Amino acid sequence: MRESSFEHGGVPGTPDCERFLERAGKDMSERVAKRPTLFIVPAAPSRETVLLGTRCSGGHVSFPPQQMGCEVCGAHGEDIETIELAASGTLTTYAMAHRQQRPGSDSPLVVGSIVLDAGPAVEVVLDVDDTEGLSSGLRVVGHLVPVGEDESGRPIVDCFFAAARPSEARG
Ligand SMILES: [Zn+2]
Repeated sequence: MRESSFEHGGVPGTPDCERFLERAGKDMSERVAKRPTLFIVPAAPSRETVLLGTRCSGGHVSFPPQQMGCEVCGAHGEDIETIELAASGTLTTYAMAHRQQRPGSDSPLVVGSIVLDAGPAVEVVLDVDDTEGLSSGLRVVGHLVPVGEDESGRPIVDCFFAAARPSEARG
């Protein structure tokens, strides 16, 4: 497990003994999404990550979800539904963010722009130490990575994109 990425003091603690008992019974199926409006944590760790997006009555897909209205046609309210999107896509651009350090590591953050298979483009932090092995057009998939614990000791996970393994490289 990676070190916590909480940079500003972390989560409020519970008494030590209580915390110990909770940790002893920790169940990976109880993972908690760091950004629950953006992705679903599947019950089984091996399941593919699912992103949450929106689709309007005109068929325009948005990620992150657009609650205020479709950015393309302005549809809103009941004309927008929440949908599940595959956490997979194609890397278009990437860069080292030298002024921001990667949590739990001495490496700088690598940020990238991805076109999801469902259509929307999204800016993400890539789960890599450097830009070696990255290229425009690379297939990438989202993985859930532990980034800390909540006050009950449940693992908090966030979605990070990295190069797809051969078995994941579709499309
Ligand atoms: Zn629309």
